[in-house]
Amino acid sequence: MRLPRRAALFFDVSTFDTYMKSLGSAALVRVLVKCTAPFLSLSCALAPSPGISATALDPAQTTGQPAPQATAEQPEPARQEGWREGLWATWNSLRGDEYALDAHGRFLEPGERPECDSEELVRHGGQALRYGSAVYVHPAFRERLLRFEQVVTEVAEEVYGRAPTRLRHAGAFSCRSTRKRSTRLSEHALGNAIDVMGFDFGAAPRKSPPLASLPKALRRPFQVRVAKHWHQGSSAEAALHSHFLRMLAARLEDREDVFRVMIGPSQRDHHDHFHFDMSPWRYVRF
Ligand SMILES: [Zn+2]
Repeated sequence: MRLPRRAALFFDVSTFDTYMKSLGSAALVRVLVKCTAPFLSLSCALAPSPGISATALDPAQTTGQPAPQATAEQPEPARQEGWREGLWATWNSLRGDEYALDAHGRFLEPGERPECDSEELVRHGGQALRYGSAVYVHPAFRERLLRFEQVVTEVAEEVYGRAPTRLRHAGAFSCRSTRKRSTRLSEHALGNAIDVMGFDFGAAPRKSPPLASLPKALRRPFQVRVAKHWHQGSSAEAALHSHFLRMLAARLEDREDVFRVMIGPSQRDHHDHFHFDMSPWRYVRF
C-alpha cells in the first residue's frame, strides 16, 4: 500500500528514528527542508514520497486510524521514486516549479527492461492546434502541450498572419530507454515527451488582409518542417520558415513554464524534429 504522494503527516520525535531508517537519502533531504518549526514543536510537516511504505509510517501510531492492509490484488508499483529524482523534485518544489512526474524513478539497472504504466495517460489531439494524430500523454504533460500550442499560435500569427491547421509529430508515448543510455528511462516512456516534426498551414482567409511581409506564395497552403527549414534556404519562403522555427524556439526558451528539455537539430539524431519533455532538470539545445 502506498501512501498518498502529497499527504502531510505529523509525528512526534519518538517515531523519528524508525522513520528515518526506512527512508533513502532523497527522503532525508526532503524531510530536512520541510521541517517548518522543529525547534518550536518537535514536529515536522512531511510530504512522503510514493516509495514510502505504509509500515514505515504507520498511521495507527500517528493518527489512531488503522493502517490499510496491502493485498495480493494491490501489487506494489515496480518503479517509483529514485533518490536522484527525489533531490530534483525537492529542488523544483523549493523554487516553486513542482511537477507531477519529478520524483518518478528514471534509472534502470544494467540489462533491466523498461516497464511502463500507461493507465494514467490521457488522449490528446490538440486544442488550440489540431495534431496530425492524437497522442497519449501524462495529464500533467497535456497541460504543457496546451501552453505550447498557445505559443505556436502566437508566433505563427506574428510571422504568417495565421495559425497552423495541423501539428505534425513523430509520437509521444513510447516505452523505451533513452537512445544514448540504456540505463535511463526515456521521458517518452512516461508520456512526458513529444517529438514535433513541423506544422501544416491552410490557405490565408480571403477576408483578412494578408501581412505585407508575407510572400504571395504563402497565401496558399504550405508546410513547415524542422528537417527542411531549420537551416535557412535560398528562397524568401524558406527564409521565412526558418525564421518561424527559430523564433518559436527562442520564444519557448524564454518561457520557463512550457518545457524543461528542448532539443533540436544541433543535437545528434534530432535533425528532423524538436524533442520536448518535462524531465526534472532543464536542458536546452536547439
Ligand atoms: Zn523525443
